[in-house]
Amino acid sequence: MKIVGVDFGGTTFTVGLVDAESGEILKEEQHETRAWEGFERITCRIAEVINSIKEDAKAVGIGSPGSILGGVVKFSPNLPDWKDVPLADRIGKLTGIPTFVENDANAFVLGEKWFGAGKGYDHIVALTLGTGVGGGVITHGILLKGYMGIGAELGHVIVEPNGPKCGCGNHGCLEAIASATAIVRMAKEMKKDFLDSEIFRSDRISARVVMDAARNGDKLGTIIRDRMVDALGRAIAGFAHIFNPQIVILGGGVSRAGDVILKPLKEKVESYLMPSFVGTFDVVISPLLDRAGVLGAASVALENVGR
Ligand SMILES: [Zn+2]
Repeated sequence: MKIVGVDFGGTTFTVGLVDAESGEILKEEQHETRAWEGFERITCRIAEVINSIKEDAKAVGIGSPGSILGGVVKFSPNLPDWKDVPLADRIGKLTGIPTFVENDANAFVLGEKWFGAGKGYDHIVALTLGTGVGGGVITHGILLKGYMGIGAELGHVIVEPNGPKCGCGNHGCLEAIASATAIVRMAKEMKKDFLDSEIFRSDRISARVVMDAARNGDKLGTIIRDRMVDALGRAIAGFAHIFNPQIVILGGGVSRAGDVILKPLKEKVESYLMPSFVGTFDVVISPLLDRAGVLGAASVALENVGR
């Protein structure tokens, strides 16, 4: 069986034809979103790409940023005119294939359940560390959505009271310390005290540059890494106490830093856990890497139509 997965974002969208059994991506195309074109035009272009690669696909799954309920995008931060737009309906009509939509972080955790590190587990907590911090929770085999369908915003738990300001208006959210955006911001803010840091030898400061510096023992890189690991450690221990997961999976660009965060993070998590939770779950980095977006989106459909 084949499924189309659409990894939709404010900058680009990727459409993939996925073999539902193996998770192999048989065809894939990436295009610019051009957010200014608006809902009607963008969805037309997405449907054109789906129609060109769909073959005999049984369903379409879409992972989209924003608050999504019943196939309707209620609000999406980087897409100004996407307010209460019926994304699933529209793509379904334009392609003639049943279409299902989920928030991108929820799509990520579903992708892990169907194809990644969450295979065989019914209790999964997932965090995407990218431009922001997204959260997805599967509990008792079911995607946790909450009363209005907007729950599991794990990136906005407060881990540093009076900490840095978050895009949501609060201070000290996990997202304001552990996202790629936050890592770059912290490096720039501390530049004047660490002018000789290797971070500033780079033309363009990115989370990757900061994490590479930490790996090399650079002082500022290490300070930022330690702050981020502490924030993540507090948050993950809290999630473990609430959800009692079998596995915690990290994805997104920052997770590529690998052992420079994973090793100290596991120690931190353990230090914040109640004794009865120690050793009850593993913290891992998503094995899906560049395939996580399309496979997550495809899993949104699989969750509805089955394999
Ligand atoms: Zn926040």
